[in-house]
Formats: sequence, C-alpha cells, structure tokens
Amino acid sequence: MVRPLMGILGGTFDPVHVGHLQLARAAIQSLNLDVLRCIPAGQPPHRHQPEATAAARLAMVHLAFDGEPRCVVDDAEIRQTGFSWTIRTLERLRTTAPESALVLIVGADALLGLPGWHRWQELLDFAHIAVANRPGTSLQPAAMPAALAALWQAHQTPDVSTLRQSPAGRIVSFTIAPCPVSATAIRQRVARGEPVTGQVSAAVENYIHSHHLYSLAAH
Ligand code: ATP
Repeated sequence: MVRPLMGILGGTFDPVHVGHLQLARAAIQSLNLDVLRCIPAGQPPHRHQPEATAAARLAMVHLAFDGEPRCVVDDAEIRQTGFSWTIRTLERLRTTAPESALVLIVGADALLGLPGWHRWQELLDFAHIAVANRPGTSLQPAAMPAALAALWQAHQTPDVSTLRQSPAGRIVSFTIAPCPVSATAIRQRVARGEPVTGQVSAAVENYIHSHHLYSLAAH
C-alpha cells in the first residue's frame, strides 16, 4: 500500500528563521512529502522556556510558512496546556490521519538529543524519523549514545522511497546545505540592536521590531 506522506517539523521557533525554512524545503523535496506540518511547541520540555510568548512565536511561524507550498501551520501544541511532548503530537496525528505515513523531521543535533525525549523509544511506533544531514558527513552510530545507536541500526534504511510503504518505523537521512543560523544567535543580535536581515524573513523581522521582541532580554 502506498500512503500519503506527512512530514512533521516541530520546534520552539523563538523566532522562526531561514534555517527552519530551508530544512522544511529540503525535507519536502528530498522525501517527496505531500504535506509538512509546522508545529510550534507550546511549553517545550527540553530546554529553558522561550522568550517570546506562544502567540508571538505562532504569529511568526504563520508569517514565515503561510503560502509556502505544501506547508501548513499546526497550532495544537500552542493551544494545549502542559508540556509539548512530541509523542503526544504523533499520537494525535496518527488518530486524525490514520491513512498517512508520518515522518518526524529533525536536525542531526536534535537526533543526538532524542534519548532525552519523553517516551522516545515509542516515537517509531507512530512515525518514521528523517534526519537532516550536512553534505559530506554521515551519521555514525559510533558517535551516538548506545541506546540510540541500537535504534538507528535496527531501523535505518538508505531508501527514502520506502517511507510510504509503512505508517511508521523507519529512520532515513537526507542532505541539507549548511545554514549557520540559530534562534539563539538571532535573539542575541536583536538584544544588541544588530540587524537580522537575511536570517529571518522580512515579515518576521518587521514583526520582531514592531512587537519589541527580544530587545529587553538580558543575555
Ligand atoms: P535555539 O537556537 O533557540 O536552540 P533553533 O534555531 O535550533 O533554536 P529550534 O526551534 O530549536 O530552533 O529547532 C527546530 C528544528 O529546526 C530542530 O530539528 C533543529 O535541528 C532544526 N534547525 C534549527 N536551526 C537549523 C538550521 N540552521 N539548519 C537546519 N536545521 C535547523
């Protein structure tokens, strides 16, 4: 059976930036996704709390992704109370899109942090995982925590075209050009009064300035 393929791009998006957009476009193209759901975390459990409000982060994700082909913004994690566990989002999407294969899109750094995620070993029961990798580098199990290396070796497949054949359970990687932009660096630049032109879209840059985001933060 060949299923529709739904990508899931979660993040704090504090703020959303061109690296996220590039990741989304590369995933859509490399994996031939039918749709990519961009899902800002309401209360992220894995890091300190965002500086911008959930409403502001969601508004910026809309500015960045609305009109982007095959992308939809999903505000469910923002609307719910409590921590934004990825496993809960996958459980929800499995119920609302039972016919689709789901694929969780993560950067290589995020993959290495996977063992810290709530119920992480169940993620592959609900979705595939696709890891964005820099050109010329390959993900080495030897560099991973033992439990992650075991998961990788049991589920990794080189052929992304197999993702539609099952609803969940495979790990693939795809190549992405390096984009040396991070939300942390952008917040720090804004706090110093430096421009972030080219690191976020013009609409997001306007939003940051008109809502005085990040400028009063202490770094
Ligand atoms: P921060 O600097 O605050 O940690 P961030 O820029 O890494 O934030 P997140 O919202 O934490 O942004 O990231 C969401 C997803 O986007 C993660 O899977 C992360 O690996 C990926 N990502 C973030 N920045 C980039 C980038 N420059 N290129 C490719 N992927 C990225």
